[in-house]
Amino acid sequence: MDKKPEEDPYVRDPNKPWSLADFEIGRPLGKGKFGRVYLAREAKSHFVVALKVIFKEQIEKYKLHHQLRREMEIQTSLRHPNILRLYGWFDDDERIFLILEYAHGGELYGLLKENGHLTEQQAATYISSLSQALAYCHGKCVIHRDIKPENLLLDHESSNKRKTMCGTLDYLAPEMVENKDHDHAVDNWTLGILCYEFLYGNPPFEAESQKDTFKRIVKIDLSFPATPNVSAEAKNLISQLLVKDPSKRLSLTKIMQHPWIVKNADPKGVCLI
Ligand code: AMP
Repeated sequence: MDKKPEEDPYVRDPNKPWSLADFEIGRPLGKGKFGRVYLAREAKSHFVVALKVIFKEQIEKYKLHHQLRREMEIQTSLRHPNILRLYGWFDDDERIFLILEYAHGGELYGLLKENGHLTEQQAATYISSLSQALAYCHGKCVIHRDIKPENLLLDHESSNKRKTMCGTLDYLAPEMVENKDHDHAVDNWTLGILCYEFLYGNPPFEAESQKDTFKRIVKIDLSFPATPNVSAEAKNLISQLLVKDPSKRLSLTKIMQHPWIVKNADPKGVCLI
């Protein structure tokens, strides 16, 4: 099949799967837990993608075959402007290659670190884009469960890197920290955490040790510092999301209708999850 960049380039003849020879590899974009991500372009069409290389040995070591396959199947099936596309994948003896939509803005975390915190307009725009993407996922019975700034990629300029954030509890809802049953409302909780972090520069329940973060989350030990000066409407939205009872958290539809979002979000803004 001829590939044109403006069309979906990765609907491929199943008898002619992709291979590394189809791509020209460019600069590294980042390093994740299980491999590296490179800027790449498809050799014929010059369609630019991000190529994620995952070593099979790592996947085997951590017994993640099923999880990876499931995530790949889900991500391939999702089509939303705020959700990063997975166009396809291929493998060789040692590696799995994921052909991903390229997010040229880098991680949202970079923007946050550069500026200390975001403006109310930026924060509202990202929360609104994320709510739209999550409403789409929840409609398909997909719960994200792992929203955090380094998993949010931007479609405009910015880059930087968070130092270490292994196994942080900061973004987890109380029911997950306490190992209870959970549903899609864990994502609504995380939107509250993110909204706070966007506006203040740190997640609300940050503490010296994981144990203390755990305690603060479970108690909902939430306070709003005097600086930076954040509007009462933003605090109102955060307080309606960081609620212990998952069924009492503001719904995604209500987030999108919240006066703070309506007043501040740029309807054209995009953020990719
Ligand atoms: P990951 O293994 O998914 O955590 O990716 C490692 C890093 O590579 C991320 O933190 C991003 O900085 C970068 N990265 C991953 N996927 C993409 C993409 N599709 N476009 C641009 N950069 C990416």
